Amino acid sequence: MSNLKIYCNAGCQKEFEVKSFKTAKLPDKVEKTYFNCPHCDHEYLVHYTDIEIRKLQARIRRVQKRFADPNDNHEDAARKEAEIQALIKEKMDALRLEVEGEGGLNG
Ligand SMILES: [Zn+2]
Repeated sequence: MSNLKIYCNAGCQKEFEVKSFKTAKLPDKVEKTYFNCPHCDHEYLVHYTDIEIRKLQARIRRVQKRFADPNDNHEDAARKEAEIQALIKEKMDALRLEVEGEGGLNG
């Protein structure tokens, strides 16, 4: 990750560069990935992952390695990559609702 510029629209309205993500461990082996504005410390969520999502992320990394192999079927790899990506997004959205719906995060 490099040069990810963020405008702190929910906080101090300044622009900053995200240098690293932080991870917080939540109950049920859920992990929250986030970063803070260096000016006002406002927290920005990247995503939540659980064991299932992290398994899918490992799978997608394996699929992406196939692109480095000139003898592999890249069309097939691209299709699988898109499939897993859609699945990850769906599960992340559901997990976020689950975690944030239970209240506690903003209170
Ligand atoms: Zn800020």
